[in-house]
Amino acid sequence: MRQTTWDFTGKKAVVTGGSRGIGRSIVTRLAKANATVYFTYANNSDAAEEVVRDCSDYPGTVHALQCNHLDLQQLEGLQRLVTSSPRSTLDILVNNAGHTADSSIPAMSWDQWNEVIQVHLHASFFLTKGFLRPLIRARGTIVNISSVAARMGAPGMLNYIAAKSGIDGMTKAASKELGEFGIRVNSVAPGYVNTDILAARSEQQIRDIASGIPLQRVAEPREIADTVMFLLSDAASYITGQVIQVDGGLY
Ligand code: NAP
Repeated sequence: MRQTTWDFTGKKAVVTGGSRGIGRSIVTRLAKANATVYFTYANNSDAAEEVVRDCSDYPGTVHALQCNHLDLQQLEGLQRLVTSSPRSTLDILVNNAGHTADSSIPAMSWDQWNEVIQVHLHASFFLTKGFLRPLIRARGTIVNISSVAARMGAPGMLNYIAAKSGIDGMTKAASKELGEFGIRVNSVAPGYVNTDILAARSEQQIRDIASGIPLQRVAEPREIADTVMFLLSDAASYITGQVIQVDGGLY
């Protein structure tokens, strides 16, 4: 498979949820492109260590940091660790970490609602705000990982879709406010992607999903990462405030 070659030499990046799936593919791509990458994970230290090992042959530098988005103190700790000096810069922020807690509306608990909103939406706000000065100093760029579900709607995902719709709104609002500082903010909205989020579905369910997608298959994580890399790069220097769907034509 042909891969575009990017050069992010001298760039410092934070990627949340980099231990698995889409985030892992973004971290790997950035490490290949010679960036210094700080990625977070919630609990799965084995997966995080594997990513660091896998990237050890690449020219970039990769650091794994445990940071649960449900814990404000851990988010503050991440911010302090990555941008410790008063003149720190940050070139790239990718708000990717996420998980689902699906349920019908009557059965959805307050905790299920809160947890998903916090992990996706509140943490993305916190990190955008927390890293703002370093991002301004670097004239950096932000990519938020949304979902095409925020446009389509889907049953049983009220919390997730509310969070992802909020992320798309945040992308648009932040792009208007931060453009004058040279900061670009975009969302990438995947359709179905072959990660652990899909692993709970049976093979028959995946076949049924694929048959409803014009390209007749779910995406591989690298296909989402490719679009993220494009948006992070200078090739996208005049793109901001956009929600880019990468969904095989699903919606
Ligand atoms: P994944 O393979 O399940 O990986 C999720 C990543 O997020 C892991 O690194 C995980 O860390 C981290 N994470 C989970 N809960 C967290 C928490 N409470 N605090 C901090 N980090 C946490 O997921 P994915 O499929 O790559 O999804 C990545 C993003 O794409 C998510 O925002 C998701 O909503 C979005 N998306 C996915 C799909 C899809 O079909 N897969 C479709 C549309 C959008 P641990 O390894 O420690 O658990």
